[in-house]
Amino acid sequence: MDTEACVEQAIRIIEAGGELVRITAPGVKDAENLKYIHKALRERGYDTPLSADIHFISDAALVAAQYVEKVRINPGNFVDRRATFQELNYSDEAYAAELVVLKKRFTEFLDICRQYGTAVRIGTNHGSLSDRIMSRYGDTPAGMVEATLEYLRVCQSEHFDHVVISLKSSDCRLMVEAVRLLAKKMNSEGMEYPLHLGVTEAGEGEDGRIRSAIGIGTLLNEGIGDTIRVSLTEAPEKEIPVARALVGICSQPKFEKSGELLKGDCSRPIIVADLSSLDVMDEAVSRKLGFEMGQVNDPVYGDRLHLGHKSPEMIYTETLGPELTKLPEETLVIVPLSLWDMAHVYNRNTGVLCDVEEFLGGVKLEKTIPVFVQISDKYDLDVSLAKQLKKESDVTIVFSFGLNYHDYHDAYRQMELLGLKNQTLLFVEMGGMDKESVTLEIAARVGGLFLNRLPGGLWIRTTEIPEFEYALELSRNILQSAGVRRYKTEFISCPGCGRTLFDLEGTVSKVKQAFGHLQQMKIAVMGCIVNGPGEMGDADYGYIGAGNGKVNLYKGRALMYAAIPEEQAIEQLRVLIAEKSSVDV
Ligand code: SF4
Repeated sequence: MDTEACVEQAIRIIEAGGELVRITAPGVKDAENLKYIHKALRERGYDTPLSADIHFISDAALVAAQYVEKVRINPGNFVDRRATFQELNYSDEAYAAELVVLKKRFTEFLDICRQYGTAVRIGTNHGSLSDRIMSRYGDTPAGMVEATLEYLRVCQSEHFDHVVISLKSSDCRLMVEAVRLLAKKMNSEGMEYPLHLGVTEAGEGEDGRIRSAIGIGTLLNEGIGDTIRVSLTEAPEKEIPVARALVGICSQPKFEKSGELLKGDCSRPIIVADLSSLDVMDEAVSRKLGFEMGQVNDPVYGDRLHLGHKSPEMIYTETLGPELTKLPEETLVIVPLSLWDMAHVYNRNTGVLCDVEEFLGGVKLEKTIPVFVQISDKYDLDVSLAKQLKKESDVTIVFSFGLNYHDYHDAYRQMELLGLKNQTLLFVEMGGMDKESVTLEIAARVGGLFLNRLPGGLWIRTTEIPEFEYALELSRNILQSAGVRRYKTEFISCPGCGRTLFDLEGTVSKVKQAFGHLQQMKIAVMGCIVNGPGEMGDADYGYIGAGNGKVNLYKGRALMYAAIPEEQAIEQLRVLIAEKSSVDV
């Protein structure tokens, strides 16, 4: 309703490179006001299309359609009531009767859109599926697809084609699976609607960027997606450079898809910390690797280190030294073949890295030494190499094809064809870019392979970023965002919109500070109780703005405390977590 502030914010988005501006319109009055926002922007010379975001109040959609270029409706609440998240049984008749009501109301809306030349986004969210859909499909990718198709079928029967579709979730895996499923279904049914991509409640900072890069990047790599939105709990104009970077990264046509995508079963990939840039291997390095000092004094080697919960399972080093003697027994040290003899003196748990030629030439080592063979060209994985790898099935393959998503898929397909069961690692080497670009490139290009559970581990080397901890942390964040490892509290937070009535960014940072040590938890910070409880998905706890300086606290989807004054809410959440979980808060 604050027209001037809204126009100013829209201009900041446009100036940053946004090509479409979406504005939430919670009610009919707000939808009416879009007319003035639209007019003011046009008067100032901005012709960027506007989209209205409508939930629950379908009358608002009918009004907004008269003033803006596109209206987004949510199939979970355009006609249906707020989902109850309870198990409901629908008879076939009751199910069909709801669809009749849906068709009638949606057709009225489409008629207005047709009259004004307004486009429609059918914007399905994982967290707000209707009871009807939940009763038959659950909150699954199939449920999200069916929720969308209910509306798409009406568009088809009404011959209304000015439609774009989105299926979003805060969970990258779910979002990617749902969009893939819909794309497949549309292909098989000859439908050609554009797809809009986004990961909802991605959060802020590096985590928000990585989640978005994995979700959006994976689909763009697969040739799916026409528009994107990176959803960050930051000022909206900050989303645009990230979005533009992702489009740049994933729309370079140099990598060609050459077949069906594979799914693997590696549900707990490991991390290799790359220490190749170091000249010394000392205690400071050990600490940065997350190793912790042991309790027992070893009479020969002194204090031994223990694994911490963030420690990498393997390290690669070209620098030898006494510090190697202290490493936790479980940590495997990988060294180049030329260093193996000496490295083995320092640490018996040492493996060697060799290339294909060295491997086929017969690496002369004791039988029990772990061997890692680096394959840098997918065509090297031929019958003769496969024969040797089969014979030595405990040899780990290190795939190293740069950032070529499809080459990795081809290699895994080739492994399947050749009947190879060897463990695999993904080795990625990057340089010549700043940290944010490196983060987006790697997450967008290869993060999807972990969603597909293909590689057994991740090994990142950043040649021009000297701190090895950066690559290590990036590896952890990619695996956590892909849902295959858990190293830290998972925070999800919405981007905020016209419904947010408190300082969302500041609150997220306070909540992170208070609960960042709860490694196994997922905590949501959401701007409003209209969509927050649904959209927080499977978060363990929710901190949700209830308006007027008040906050509602949730355990899962159950409301536990209502209207807590904002200044007491973090402490109350602490009490709630202590009551309901066996963790030290
Ligand atoms: S405040 Fe947050 S949860 Fe509520 S509608 Fe806006 S973006 Fe969604």
